[in-house]
Amino acid sequence: MIDAYRQGYQEFNAELMRESYLYNSGQKMELEIAPIYERYAHLFDSEAVSRLKGILEKTPEHFAGQRASIKHFLVFAVNQLLDSSVKSLTEEISRDEAAAATGWRGRKMTFQDSAVAISTEAVRASRDQIYNWRLSIIAASNDLRVERIEKLHQAASLIGGPLPEGSPDSPRTGRTGQSPELDRDISDSRPDRGRGQGSSSSYSALYKNLYQLDLDSIASQCESLLARTESVYVARLDEALRSDLGISVDEATRPDGMYLMHLPRYDGRFPPDRIMTAYHGTMEGLGIRTEYQSNILIDDEPRPHKSPRAFCAPIRVPEEVRLVIRPFGGHADYISFLHEAGHAQHYGWTAAGLPSEFKYTGDSALTETYAFLFNHLPSDPVWLETFLGFAGAGDFIKSSILTRLFTVRRYAGKFIFELGLHSGTAHGDAGRAYSEVLSEATGFKTGEAEYLFDMDDAFYSAGYLRAWAFEVVLRDYLITRFGKLWWTNTRAGTFLKELWETGDRYTADEIASQIGIGPINFDLLTDDFLKALA
Ligand SMILES: [Zn+2]
Repeated sequence: MIDAYRQGYQEFNAELMRESYLYNSGQKMELEIAPIYERYAHLFDSEAVSRLKGILEKTPEHFAGQRASIKHFLVFAVNQLLDSSVKSLTEEISRDEAAAATGWRGRKMTFQDSAVAISTEAVRASRDQIYNWRLSIIAASNDLRVERIEKLHQAASLIGGPLPEGSPDSPRTGRTGQSPELDRDISDSRPDRGRGQGSSSSYSALYKNLYQLDLDSIASQCESLLARTESVYVARLDEALRSDLGISVDEATRPDGMYLMHLPRYDGRFPPDRIMTAYHGTMEGLGIRTEYQSNILIDDEPRPHKSPRAFCAPIRVPEEVRLVIRPFGGHADYISFLHEAGHAQHYGWTAAGLPSEFKYTGDSALTETYAFLFNHLPSDPVWLETFLGFAGAGDFIKSSILTRLFTVRRYAGKFIFELGLHSGTAHGDAGRAYSEVLSEATGFKTGEAEYLFDMDDAFYSAGYLRAWAFEVVLRDYLITRFGKLWWTNTRAGTFLKELWETGDRYTADEIASQIGIGPINFDLLTDDFLKALA
């Protein structure tokens, strides 16, 4: 069964990724994924999940590789099964968003455009106006989102714990065609914190089991990061708000945050025509000649319907990886392109001979770590001077690290909220819980309306958080071994390629342990922020 399953799995992922690439790069006007899902539905129906479960139970512990394969398939099948249980609601919600448009300064502004418009709008009253329109669109679909979450919780309770208790080796999350942009034991027999919310608590129980992650411990690490960085964060944020926006932290709201964190003041330092040179040069320093990488195809053609955000589409790993950009310039554009370039190199260097379940399904924290490693280079003074001629960038670097702390604190808040929502502890008044946690974590007053919009399924937020924590340690390791300018050292490149070769076979914690720097915790990440922003 496994060989046939693998074949179908490989084809499904490649087809889904190709369709997503064509649509998001503006070469296809309609995203036609429903027929792909229908054709491969047998890979992720409840029968497939129970068959995989049965095979895993019969596979002896010493067949570690085979058990890892089946677990990766299980993660894939469970995630897809949950996705497809709410497919029509997901489609309905995104149709509503895609259709929404309003007039703004004599032009049509779509729902997608509105986020960029807020983050680049210097006039506060205008930001508020766009933001309120955006919230009205989100609020109009919130009943559907409530229904969708309830359905997901019901579907999760039907699946139950897919992995047998106490198994040591573990896979993680499944990649889907969407570009976005998750430690341990299920034998953790703590009583559930839910108050009789049977099905929502089983959603978090399902993921604790499936990812073999101690989500409660991640939540307490988030609490500690928030507490330890609170005073320095609020102090630096207040200074930035007073100098850039002329307001204090007590007055600041979410749209102010979206604008401030875009760092518009530095846009001129990051011209669109230098982005490719910076990418090629950075990789060349590591001994990677991007011009000879025929498997990583860069798509930088301008097309009217191309996604404004850079993305990476690993269609056939490692033979056909697409790195897509529509360069606008600006700090945010550089960061998002270098982030996606990190994903592209990871999948482009993955060993061709690996079984395909280790190419498309894994611990999201691992690939996100490689992506963060590159998207953090524009806060390195030497990198800025080398590729952008930006000398004396001290103030910019502090601002850029403040935006990173903002994002990490925001995700810590999001994760704490999501765990509550999916464990039944936040039920009933989830909107208020969201507003309180996010306002507190970010320092920007955040309303209730976005509480279900501002959320990815399957605890993806935990993957980002673990990746931020792992990236700091991995970067520190690279500096210790290869020098402060590790990104100019071909030996560092050789080391990274060896990690990338293993694709998604291991979890971020396993890779961290293999190089002797694990397990991942949030202490060094916290210290790093405290040091940089003191
Ligand atoms: Zn990413």
